[in-house]
Amino acid sequence: MRTQVATLHAELVRYNLVAWTAGNISGRIPGEDLFVIKPSGVAYDELTPENMVVCDLDGNLVEGDHAPSSDTAAHAYVYRHMPEVGGVVHTHSTYASAWAARGEPIPCVLTAMADEFGGEIPVGPFALIGDDSIGQGIVATLEGHRSPAVLMQNHGVFTIGKDPKAAVKAAVMCEDVARTVHVARQLGEPLPIKPEHIDHLYDRYQNVYGQRSPR
Ligand SMILES: [Zn+2]
Repeated sequence: MRTQVATLHAELVRYNLVAWTAGNISGRIPGEDLFVIKPSGVAYDELTPENMVVCDLDGNLVEGDHAPSSDTAAHAYVYRHMPEVGGVVHTHSTYASAWAARGEPIPCVLTAMADEFGGEIPVGPFALIGDDSIGQGIVATLEGHRSPAVLMQNHGVFTIGKDPKAAVKAAVMCEDVARTVHVARQLGEPLPIKPEHIDHLYDRYQNVYGQRSPR
């Protein structure tokens, strides 16, 4: 898990989702009440499996030479309250954060959004760093929602997945659709997709699309 989480941070850079050190990934250690997360303030180029940090589900440091990411409390809160989640990603990616700055959900106007998010990408409450309020906002918004991404108002994006890679994919797709819908808005009002079509697309993508697993 240390290797997975360290390696995946390169994807945040590759897809232009982060500036400086402002973005982080974590991964739950299967079968344990522990997760691996980025160390605070360490440059992406310097991340290695060894300098990743292990925390318990209250966000306390269990193993590592560095302090954990300043967003650790939010990641920990998600793992405590959403047992199905195995990976969490946080970024301030530009277009998604622009929607967050307006407190505006991204409407489902692209089939790719219906596929990945099953509807609009919702907005979570304004919350200050330092206690559980960011985590509470993420969980309250995403519980019972199909979207694996939430735009935290005036802040940025948090995504969840069954593992860290799935959460990274959701962060990449979130920025991609945030950008396209933003561009579409410049020349008019994007057309909504009917709810029954969204359901159909979501079901197909989640259950049928892709390579069949080998027997
Ligand atoms: Zn942030």
